[in-house]
This record gives sequence, structure tokens and C-alpha cells, in this order.
Amino acid sequence: MSLYTKYRPRDWDSVIWQDAISTVLRTSLIQGRVGHAYILTGSRGTGKTTTARILAKWVNCLDLQNGNPCHICAHCIAFDQGNMLDCIEIDAASHTGVDHIRDLIEKARFEPNQWKYKVYIIDEVHMLSTPSFNALLKTLEEPPKHVKFILATTEIDKVLETIRSRSLRFDFKKISEADIVKRLEYVCGQEGIRAEQEALEIIAQAARGALRDALTLTEQSTVNSEISTDYVRSTLSLIEDSLIEEIIETIVTADKVRMMTILDTLRSRHAEVRGLFDQILYGLRDAMMSSFLGKNNTANFAEYSEIFAIFESAYSRIRSIADGWLLIEITLLRAVARGEKSATKEENQKIGRSLQDEKNLQAQENNVTPSTQVESKKKKEEKDKIELAEQISTQGVVMPTEWPKNISSSNFNYIHLLEEIKKTKSTLVLDLKTARFEHTKNSLTLIFSKEWHYNRANTPAMRNIVIETLGNLYSNSWSVVCRLEWMPGVSIADVVF
Ligand SMILES: [Zn+2]
Repeated sequence: MSLYTKYRPRDWDSVIWQDAISTVLRTSLIQGRVGHAYILTGSRGTGKTTTARILAKWVNCLDLQNGNPCHICAHCIAFDQGNMLDCIEIDAASHTGVDHIRDLIEKARFEPNQWKYKVYIIDEVHMLSTPSFNALLKTLEEPPKHVKFILATTEIDKVLETIRSRSLRFDFKKISEADIVKRLEYVCGQEGIRAEQEALEIIAQAARGALRDALTLTEQSTVNSEISTDYVRSTLSLIEDSLIEEIIETIVTADKVRMMTILDTLRSRHAEVRGLFDQILYGLRDAMMSSFLGKNNTANFAEYSEIFAIFESAYSRIRSIADGWLLIEITLLRAVARGEKSATKEENQKIGRSLQDEKNLQAQENNVTPSTQVESKKKKEEKDKIELAEQISTQGVVMPTEWPKNISSSNFNYIHLLEEIKKTKSTLVLDLKTARFEHTKNSLTLIFSKEWHYNRANTPAMRNIVIETLGNLYSNSWSVVCRLEWMPGVSIADVVF
């Protein structure tokens, strides 16, 4: 049995890291205020399924103990043994489109077999197929008295308003590193595992608020009932803190020569992009925090924020770029050169190779042939390098200087689109620049990692500007969808405050 399953909390007293939620639920349950539908939302590993199970067990327990299921009545025992006809667990993520889910939900109107209530736990509810979803909506509109729905989702924005408005909503926060460490200490104590404190802290940080991941990592890091810091670092391919501090210091002092040495070190260590960026972002968070509190005079808060923004915007590109190392190189160089308006000729030569990288990066993202392959003349290359060097410190999208004429929609180019929009609505470009895009024939999906950019871009007026510009460029009718994608590891709210 995995540590996660073994130590899954069974009552409200053990769900200590979602205090507010367990208190509200327990109190309302004790007072007999039971809703017919609950929707639990939050990132993975934060206790949604655990809470759903306690709720399901609770509503049918024959002998509640201070709002907790008793674990010893016939119903509790049946539940624990997985012998529970009236509790139906559905993982919508793995069964989308399967007809029997619709049937199951439609059968909700029949009385329970043994229990007082029929309980439906639907995990990742936003993934339900349309027929299943309609069946759910129909049942929620006129809920039979004997039915309880417990819906869970990591993406509440994708759950339709009609479902949300009919359910009691609970937002699960990411679990703090301190709480994760506390829980890991408890589990290690119970299991007789000797763990170095620093090792547990690293695990807690890497788990990014997900206790389930932390317990899995703990399990993987245990060798002969011991967990050592070195072993954890190597399993997670982490760079030691002192090097991360050095990177940040080098960026702050804009020391280009030192940065080239650091890049060599990182290359030889096979640094992995997401892990490295996570570490740098957390390092910057710490630096910002101490600068905010006046404990750090190396750089001011605004400078750290500026550097943070560079890494944050690069983070959202990780998935769209095949070569992670390229992104590491470019982002570190951008960060070091952030204050520069234009580079000198000498510096251009020094970072010439990286400028070629920048072009490849653009090419990978936009799926266009790097211009150097088209233009063979060396002179032209040199000119491009200098122009790009002038743009490299702008941090945002580098605007190429020439565009192919008469592009068809199969040659869709996001940067070209932005350039066109810039002519009519330059403020919109600031938001669109932060988006990742997915493009199929005549539809464009813009995926934002920050809510404020998303909110500004996702209005009918703004979408119309995009649609019109697409129409002008590619002579077709387009559909444009904006959606929000929280960065998997860190959100700005987590990191800054
Ligand atoms: Zn019971």
C-alpha cells in the first residue's frame, strides 16, 4: 500500500491543512445543513478526493461522532471495504464519452439500495462528455431528495455556470510547505524512516502544494529506511541553492562574463528547464520578500519584480519549446541584459551564437523557417544580428523585421498577427504577448497564464479585433477562444504574497 493511501485522512480532525473547509463542512453537517451538490475545486493533491470520501461516508454513517464518521457502523465498514452500491465514484477524466456514465447519472432518480442517500462522486467533472453532462444538469435542476452529488475539479473555469450555481463551492488552497513538512515528519515517524530535515523541506518545495506528490516523493526517496538530502537532490535533478543564489546575484549585477561561466556549469550539469526555473522563481520570491521587508539591500523590490517577470514569461513558453536548454540560455541572457537599450558591436559578437538561438526559438514557437536558412547572404545575417541585439532586452516578443507577403492561413504566424493588431490597438498586444496559442485551420485558442491579461483580452470587443485582423490577414472567417491556464508549478499569487 502506498504511503498516500495508507495515510489518507479518514475524518475532519485529520484534514488539518484545509482548516477552513473542514471546519465549515463539519459545522454545517453537525447542524444538519446538508446540500444536495458540492463542488470541490483546487489544484491536484490538495485533498479534494479525500474530502469527497469523508463527506460520502458522513452522509450515510449511522452513528456520527462530533461530525465525523464513526468508522465502525455497518455503513462505514461497507464504505471502507469498497462494498458500497450506493456510492458511485466516477473519474470523468478517464471515462469521457462512455455511455454508462450517462446511464449511471440518469439512474439517480431510483431509490438507494441500502443507504439513506445515493452519493455520486464525480472527479474532474469538467471532463464529462456532453450527454453525461446533460444528464447531470437535468438531475441537478430537480434533485431527488435521496441523492447527493460531490463534484471535484482542478479547472473550475471549465465547469459550466449552470452546474456551479447549483452546487456549494469549496476552494482548496495549495498546502503550505510548512504543513507538508509537518505531515511528512509524522508519516516518517510512524514508518520508522529517518529523514534529514532539509531533505523533507526540499520534497515539500518540489511538491508545489500537493501533499499526494510529497508522499510519493518521500516513498521514492527512501533507501533503507533513510532519506538523505543528497539523494533527494539527485532524484529531483536539483541544482544546489548556492548556485541558484549565484545566478540571481549575477543577474542583479548584470555580470555577463560570469553568466557565461554559469551557463557552462549548468550545461555540464544537464539542468532541466522547468526544475531550474522553479528554483530561480522561488529564489527570487525569497529575495523579493526580504527586499520588501527591508532586509535585503542588494537590489530593490522593483528590480527583482522585473527579473521575475522575465522568468515568469519564459515559464509559460516551456511547453511550446522542444529544446529546453535554448530557453534556459536565452532567458538567463535576457535577464542579465535586461537594462540595455542596445548592445555594442563587440557584445553582439560575443552573444552572436545566442542570437541565432533566439531565432531558432522563435522558429520553434511559430513553426516558420528560421530566416537565416532562407537568406544565405552573410551580410544580411550580420544586419539581423545587430537588429535582434537591439531588441533582445525588450523581454517580450522579438519582432522580426521582414514578413513574407500573402501568407495563407496554413502559414499562420502569431507574431505577424500581433504586429498587425499593434497598428490598431497597441494596448491589446501587451496582453496577447503573454499568451501561448494553439492554432488549427481557422480557429485560434489563446492560453493565458495570468488572469489580468486574460480578463483584458477576453472581452467581445477585444476578441473582435483579433478576429477582424485574422480575417484581413488570411481572408477567412475565424473563431477565437481565450482561456486561462494556471502555470503548473507556480502562480504569481503564490510566489509574491
Ligand atoms: Zn459510521
